[in-house]
Amino acid sequence: MSKRDYYEVLGVDKNASESEIKSAYRKLAMKYHPDKNKNDKEAEEKFKEAAEAYEVLSDKDKRQRYDQFGHQGVQSDFGSGGFTWENFTHANDFSDIFGDIGNIFETFFGGGGGGFGFGGRAQQQAAMNRGGDLKLSLSLTLEEIAKGVTKRLKVNIKQPCDVCNGTGSADGKVNTCPQCGGSGRVKQVRQSFFGQMSTITTCPQCNGTGQSIQNKCSKCNGDGRISSVKSIKVDIPAGVSDGQYLKLRGQGHAGKNGGPAGDIIVYIKEKKNELFDRDGQDLICTFPISVTDAVLGNTIDVPTLKGHAKMKIPSGTQSGKVFRLRGQGLPYVNSSRKGDLYVKIIVVIPNKLSSEERELYSKIVPFDQKRNLKPGKSFFEKLKEYFI
Ligand SMILES: [Zn+2]
Ligand SMILES: [Zn+2]
Repeated sequence: MSKRDYYEVLGVDKNASESEIKSAYRKLAMKYHPDKNKNDKEAEEKFKEAAEAYEVLSDKDKRQRYDQFGHQGVQSDFGSGGFTWENFTHANDFSDIFGDIGNIFETFFGGGGGGFGFGGRAQQQAAMNRGGDLKLSLSLTLEEIAKGVTKRLKVNIKQPCDVCNGTGSADGKVNTCPQCGGSGRVKQVRQSFFGQMSTITTCPQCNGTGQSIQNKCSKCNGDGRISSVKSIKVDIPAGVSDGQYLKLRGQGHAGKNGGPAGDIIVYIKEKKNELFDRDGQDLICTFPISVTDAVLGNTIDVPTLKGHAKMKIPSGTQSGKVFRLRGQGLPYVNSSRKGDLYVKIIVVIPNKLSSEERELYSKIVPFDQKRNLKPGKSFFEKLKEYFI
């Protein structure tokens, strides 16, 4: 089934304002709310579809990527299976619809209504006990970014307790929580915008684990996890840029009482480079040359990320002229394409001359006078072509 356009889902046009998008979503969310459409699969799908569309279109960055690249542009914001309620970050903005807990997980879990986009109870329980994500940043040099690099990092992370095997129980006995019957959630009935609504909250007795442990493991105090240092390996593909991140799925903090692990999210930081400025995958290098090289022309050795390259300077090169070395920039991620290296020439005028130099320069003066340089627009128009 092909995915519907998000604007079409919300029934707004492409130029819709933030508030138009919000009110369109609100109407749909109320229309398809499961409390009003009991056991209606189609309404449930529509309710979720609207949330997904709103999640993307209400976020400036996501909306821009969606406008530019369509569904593909926002794919990476959701898991491999696409949008789930876990990805919905606006439940708090619609507390009249979702209940004031603000966590759609909790709001729609259990309660006998069942199957709200999440499969069975075991799966819901697993989501509740999922370990946290660990976020860290990694500084890379341009040279590392150019080639791609494998880094080994030591992280302080919660791992399953080795004494109780992650169960949290000293004797291995884990009972079902008496208050919630193992679901980890308890139901509350409340008055809402459109009548009575049941809200499900985390069980206060077991904190959502659904378990009751009589004899807690002394090492982890019943949590099933202990903090320890772990060495991880991060493969960074060539061409990444500052602010991008990599996700190491399932390598984050271990889940509570045997729940699934979270992710490690590695943010890329780019170290400043002394020779090159970066513009996307292109590099810019400012290169000083002498007056004689500018006037007579020469072949110069310019630095590249791999070492250096020979570049011909034609005679009569003006200060500010930019040359391009194709393919000497950074590679595009997962592509054989490469950016270019731009070399910007600066002609250095000597400010201290020996008497011999002064004598030599003086000999050129009569020739220069014949060039009869004059200020005026046309001169700058002519020079402009040297700048990009
Ligand atoms: Zn409980
Ligand atoms: Zn333990």
